[in-house]
Amino acid sequence: MHHTIIPVTPFLQNCSVLWCEQTRQAVVIDPGGDIDRIEQVLEREYLILTRILLTHGHLDHVGGATALARKRAVPITGPQQEDQFWLDSLPAQSEWLGFPRCEPFLPDEWLNEGDTIRFGQEILQVRHCPGHTPGHVIFFDAGSALAVVGQ
Ligand SMILES: [Zn+2]
Repeated sequence: MHHTIIPVTPFLQNCSVLWCEQTRQAVVIDPGGDIDRIEQVLEREYLILTRILLTHGHLDHVGGATALARKRAVPITGPQQEDQFWLDSLPAQSEWLGFPRCEPFLPDEWLNEGDTIRFGQEILQVRHCPGHTPGHVIFFDAGSALAVVGQ
């Protein structure tokens, strides 16, 4: 599994792009903003985006998710449902942080402990890791011992 990190938003939050070398199928994890820069990486690496994954509902991790999902016609998956109150409060989070207003949204699918995400020949394992937020999930690739923990 290949991956690269793109710092996004004024907080330089770590957005990750993971892809399958054989098929070029990719996932983007935590597109908090700056989707132009994320798309530049997709184009530079000739990647086919299959889905957007979210670790938790904080604005700097999710702020670009709906725009990227619409542009690329891909689903948004995650976090775990206990973070719905964070997604519901995105307009308030925008005010607190001084970011452009972000509308609330629901993912196409919530994630749970033990779920798996497939793209190309790759499989990511989902772990529910409440603490930073109650619905926080992390993604783990056993093959390359890579964990994307959403920080
Ligand atoms: Zn956070």
